[in-house]
Amino acid sequence: MLVPRSVPAVVVAGNWKMHVSPDDAREFLDAFSPRRGPGRPQVAVFPPAISLLAAVTSAPSWLAIGTQNIHWEARGAFTGEVSAPLALAAGATHTLVGHSERRHLFGETDSDVARKTAAAVHHGLVPTVCVGETLAERHAGRVSEVILRQLDAALECLAGQETQFLLAYEPVWAIGTGETATPQDATEAHSVLRHRMREQLGDRADQVSILYGGSVKPDNAAELMAADDVDGVLVGGASLDPVSFVRIVDAAPDR
Ligand code: PEP
Repeated sequence: MLVPRSVPAVVVAGNWKMHVSPDDAREFLDAFSPRRGPGRPQVAVFPPAISLLAAVTSAPSWLAIGTQNIHWEARGAFTGEVSAPLALAAGATHTLVGHSERRHLFGETDSDVARKTAAAVHHGLVPTVCVGETLAERHAGRVSEVILRQLDAALECLAGQETQFLLAYEPVWAIGTGETATPQDATEAHSVLRHRMREQLGDRADQVSILYGGSVKPDNAAELMAADDVDGVLVGGASLDPVSFVRIVDAAPDR
């Protein structure tokens, strides 16, 4: 479990998307050996559901394992879905919610994301709520409006709770495209999110890690993680190779 602190922890997380079989997960974790020690970042990976158990059983104790998505119901006739209690029973401690691929390819709405966030919190999975604007929304000057609308929907169920959660700012135009937001773009968006969380959650907002995601690679990770209000990164493609993911984790600042 990623441990809550009085300042946001630096967190480096890998989203394996629809890659990494159970055997691949075991092989990856055998080879994955970033620098550890006091002040080093918290690290998590999000395997596909079919590889969750293999990852849980092969992971070192410092590595958090999560699902990429959950259903808001605890059980029932929802073919193809995974619930928070099932994820917990398989050993997950975390889950992504509202990843842009879920929103844009599978039609997830803000209210779906809010229900998933509420389910995660209710059952004791730590949610990483993903928000981010499309390129058209950025060009229309709507970044703050869009990410605050997405955040507000999730905050409704988080405001009254003492629970731990993370945010990931992932501009849709930067995911899997090789286009990265500048550190300044990331800081601006993260500050907007932090400010709204302070209004809604008070001092608790200062403990929430806000990760940047979108074409993070070993070569740009250090600069992004050094930016103000960037408390780590959520990495897709570059988290699939243990050597590249180790370089990203090792690029995180001590905190
Ligand atoms: C992601 O899937 O969350 C992501 C940021 O992907 P990539 O790093 O490949 O852009």
